[in-house]
Amino acid sequence: MKNRVLVYHKVDVRPELGAGCISPKRFSQQIEHLLNRGFEFGTLYDIRKNQNKTKLIALTFDDGYQNVFLYAYPILKEFGIPATLFLITNFLGAQNTWDVNLGGIKYQHLTIDNIAKLIDNGWEIGSHGVSHCMLAGMPTSTIREELRLSKQTLEQQFMTDVRYFCTPFGKLNRQIICEAQSAGYQGICGFFPFKYYKENPPDFIIPRLAVYSFDTLRALERKLANNWQIRFEIIKQNVVNFCANGTVIVHNLK
Ligand SMILES: [Zn+2]
Repeated sequence: MKNRVLVYHKVDVRPELGAGCISPKRFSQQIEHLLNRGFEFGTLYDIRKNQNKTKLIALTFDDGYQNVFLYAYPILKEFGIPATLFLITNFLGAQNTWDVNLGGIKYQHLTIDNIAKLIDNGWEIGSHGVSHCMLAGMPTSTIREELRLSKQTLEQQFMTDVRYFCTPFGKLNRQIICEAQSAGYQGICGFFPFKYYKENPPDFIIPRLAVYSFDTLRALERKLANNWQIRFEIIKQNVVNFCANGTVIVHNLK
């Protein structure tokens, strides 16, 4: 199995002690490095339509932070690279409330104007739910509302198709997958399940690997490798996610 999708959260100049924030300088180095290695960039839709183009990869930005517009977009624009945003409808233009980072920084989410500008420049939007709640274990009615209402809100607001759903906190199960299919999505993103290291996932499931603040350029290449090297990155993602679940617990205790 080959991974063709990278996940970013924040690209910001403010140093944060977590794994999810990359400095603009580092982000720029990563993009230049991948371009030098012959990779091309498209949206999720592009890569799924061009399965044979193995060097075509997609950048996805989860949660829709405003720093993506301020710092990542200008860098990508310079190279004519589009990306895919996963937005949370309750947080459009709002301040983040669930992210417990060690720097105590409160992050702002993208405004409607920011998003419209990104779409105008070829970016794609997907849904990351209404409220960024953990869907696994939720009642069916909640899962349905998170999937359907967020899709409808984004499509009406931005007059564009919302084809993909990205489940908050990465946890997928059969029920979420079925509900996403009946809500009209064409694909769903979650963690990169370890079993897909060897076997191909069902077409509806889009595996991705996250880029962390401590990742080297070598690690970045491993995430896109078509051999055993990707294993290490899948294990790394599982460990980071395990630790990140701590932030959910901390938040719930507050
Ligand atoms: Zn998220």
